[in-house]
Amino acid sequence: DPRIRDIMSRIRVVPDFPKPGIMFQDITTVLLDPKAFKDAINLFVERYKGRNISVVAGIEARGFIFGPPIALAIGAKFVPLRKPGKLPGEVISEDYELEYGKDCLQMHVGAVESKERALVVDDLIATGGTLCAAMNLLERAGAEVVECACLIELPDLKGRERLKGKPLYVLLEAH
Ligand code: IMP
Repeated sequence: DPRIRDIMSRIRVVPDFPKPGIMFQDITTVLLDPKAFKDAINLFVERYKGRNISVVAGIEARGFIFGPPIALAIGAKFVPLRKPGKLPGEVISEDYELEYGKDCLQMHVGAVESKERALVVDDLIATGGTLCAAMNLLERAGAEVVECACLIELPDLKGRERLKGKPLYVLLEAH
């Protein structure tokens, strides 16, 4: 798909951010090009419309950029999955391991109902720990995770293997 080549050309790779040795994949430069941004959203919408998905769950922070336009276009609700201490209502929490240390995602109780069909959206999958925690939150609320969707996969980190057998859809791979 020529749209994917164009999106790929808009991603900026920033060496040594946020620390030495990391090649940071920066999607903010995709957002500067309305056609590339719209193409990215449309690629996901084409894949997910008509699949009876009632929840798009976006992961803080860049899942909040791509998740809502997808949700609106497919007629689903949007549920933010946030870092601790940000959501004002009652929450459920999932801790997960980072390369150095721990992190946590939270979701509002009552945002998702049992048996809902959910799509999880983020910008990038590295080790898969973040998406795994997101899936656990949705499943604890009784939802069925249909798929996880990201713009970028770092396949060398084998994050796909941590997704409990659920499908992962990505627009492109980076090494
Ligand atoms: P994982 O949990 O190791 O799969 O890391 C994925 C999370 O870290 C996602 O929420 C990403 O937004 C973020 N992340 C890790 N590396 C990058 C990167 O190179 N660019 C943008 N986000 C990244």
